[in-house]
Amino acid sequence: MNIAMISYWSCPLTKLGVATAGGMNVYVLNLAQALGELGHTVDIYTRVHLEGDDLQPTLHPNVSVVHLRSEHHDLYQDIEDFSDQMEEQVRRRQVHYDSVHAHYFYSGLVGLKMRERMEAPLFATFHTLGIMKKYYVGTVDHRRIKSESDIINGVDGIIASTELEKTDLIAWHHVPEGKIYTIHPGVDHHLFRPYDRHTARSILGLTEEKNIILFVGRIDPVKGIHLLIDAFAQLQAAASPELQATKLLLIGGDPANQEFWSAGEARQLRQQIHAAQLEDRVIFVGSQPHAQLAYYYAAADLVVMPSAYETFGFVALEAMACGACVLASRVGGLQYLIQDRINGRLFEPRNVDELASIMGELLVDGDQKDRLGQNAAASSYRFCWRKQAEKMLTVYQKFI
Ligand code: UDP
Repeated sequence: MNIAMISYWSCPLTKLGVATAGGMNVYVLNLAQALGELGHTVDIYTRVHLEGDDLQPTLHPNVSVVHLRSEHHDLYQDIEDFSDQMEEQVRRRQVHYDSVHAHYFYSGLVGLKMRERMEAPLFATFHTLGIMKKYYVGTVDHRRIKSESDIINGVDGIIASTELEKTDLIAWHHVPEGKIYTIHPGVDHHLFRPYDRHTARSILGLTEEKNIILFVGRIDPVKGIHLLIDAFAQLQAAASPELQATKLLLIGGDPANQEFWSAGEARQLRQQIHAAQLEDRVIFVGSQPHAQLAYYYAAADLVVMPSAYETFGFVALEAMACGACVLASRVGGLQYLIQDRINGRLFEPRNVDELASIMGELLVDGDQKDRLGQNAAASSYRFCWRKQAEKMLTVYQKFI
């Protein structure tokens, strides 16, 4: 099959964990590569993210990225222009697509335009929904919510990452059930696999540390990092020297860049750390590539994901695949990945006391931590990009 993916919001080759680049980039890249491995051709249409970049790099013999220029500051206006450029590229490449798959609502809007210009079925994965952000984070964007309704009405199929996302789509947007296909994303098991903790720590130069708690993700309010810092401060105030000898590493963002610190979230977190006098205990490590992250997950005693909401939660799955003990808030996809006390621990969202108490419990109970980590690694095998790609193909093929 020839498949076009639209990734307007963010190029899948962008540095992960910085600004808005995160799970969606990982999803698009891995799905495209898995489809390519299965012998299908995938072109990913996205915006130029770095001046001087190769405009049409090939990621795999069957997978290309097509960078298009974005000239408008108003993204809604830019969508028309992007669609024109995409149409021009499709004509030049003389390719007929059997399927068009749009990621996130901006791409969905491009997809709707392209649907009028190319004869191909259109699929959407939302990754996050405006209505869920309104509900869980309090960010209200009516134009986005309306756009998502238009996309829902205009596409042939919607791909949900979990049953919960499907339920939410039905409950909040009244999507007919038959229009939604639930297909779990995967994890790269070649990269994310259990490594020996001591080896991982010596590779990372972390041999001095007693306990390590790890956060990985975009430095964004939705991730709930402030809750983790509050809980960590409680742990530090505890009497036990065992618990006090703990460092919290925050991976994500670009701390070497002044702009990072002028953005709201990083600035507030830094003030919070300063007020709690935790500067020598809470470290902003900055974003790390996947190859390096695998060692961090293995080196950590606990990986904490205190998000207000997660549609899926790649970080939790990657950490589990590395045999880490994951502690996450009971929201969205995280409740699918983690079964409480079986392959990780869940806590009630925003409950700092509970988070601190479970962190304390796990840090002194090595057996529980190891058992949860081993079970996590075993359960991560349910999530595989190849299987996801095969399921995606059966959906695409239904509409040919
Ligand atoms: N990530 C990374 N380096 C970083 C921070 C994050 O590679 O410094 C990756 C992380 O490994 C995961 C993705 O970004 O694959 C984040 O996905 P997740 O679903 O956890 O969060 P989202 O960004 O979708 O909110």
